[in-house]
Amino acid sequence: MNITSVVDLSKAVLQQVEFPQPVPVRVFMKRLDLIHPYVSGNKWFKQKYNLIKAREDGYETLLTFGGAFSNHIYATAAAGKEFGFRTIGMIRGEEHFRLNPTLQFAAEQGMQIHYVTRSDYRKKHLPEFTEWIYSKFGNVYIIPEGGTNQLAIKGTSEIPSLIETDFDYITTACGTAATVSGVICGLQGNKKVLGFAVLRGASFLLKNAEQNVRAFTGKTFSNWSINLEYHFGGYAKINRDLVLFIRQIEEMNGVVLDPVYTGKMLFGVYDLARNGFFGEGKTIVALHTGGQQGIEGMKMRMKEVGPI
Ligand SMILES: *Cc1c(COP(=O)(O)O)cnc(C)c1O
Repeated sequence: MNITSVVDLSKAVLQQVEFPQPVPVRVFMKRLDLIHPYVSGNKWFKQKYNLIKAREDGYETLLTFGGAFSNHIYATAAAGKEFGFRTIGMIRGEEHFRLNPTLQFAAEQGMQIHYVTRSDYRKKHLPEFTEWIYSKFGNVYIIPEGGTNQLAIKGTSEIPSLIETDFDYITTACGTAATVSGVICGLQGNKKVLGFAVLRGASFLLKNAEQNVRAFTGKTFSNWSINLEYHFGGYAKINRDLVLFIRQIEEMNGVVLDPVYTGKMLFGVYDLARNGFFGEGKTIVALHTGGQQGIEGMKMRMKEVGPI
């Protein structure tokens, strides 16, 4: 099957967002989450050229890494099923007797799940680890954690061209900073890009982005930054304000945000907008990068901090 024909980019509508309190800017969400039921959001753009390359080079199996609730694991499992690759997921941490909803879905798509201890998982970039993978699994196409590599930058660099309105800023959530890097590359110094780190103490993301952009374009640009303030305590950490905000946004707009990525990003946009950061009358396009699959796995924790 033609790899690009299964996603429908025309479904990625631009939707204006209403906030609980008025803001002096216009904010739209670019609904990349709607392009495919499972291989959606930024994960499609990160995988696209990897899938094409794996197919061209004759690979039959994709192998990748992720946490037990990973959107990337979920999307890779679905992409494998859709495009006829076998998939292997190397999952960080101990095996649990019952699969969580993410891994349950992945297994249903045919993904073979392997658990990797946290200490081994940290070694996954080392050549010895890669050798071990090839000796155990044969000739597999390895996609790094989060799907982040040069082909992912190439794919995400196409996102700005999909935005069908004039705008001043693109904003996006940052986990590894591949997506924000691709967006910066795609804009070639035009407009402004603002990433939001979803991890605590994530200044390394600025370095990652700068390196990714230089590797891909041979240039550096100064029209971007990554805000490090809206991590809510760390990766997948949440509080009551965040959960309430996500709920309000859903009620007012019918848009479901996840508490790990897009919820934090849009909270940051809202907070900065109210404080006059963007300037009066500006237009902001916030990328809805998907991630709704992870909500199920976060529900317990969300109940602990507030109603949702
Ligand atoms: C993976 C993910 C991100 C982070 O993307 P990076 O390219 O790793 O920065 C953002 N939003 C959602 C919903 C994701 O699943």
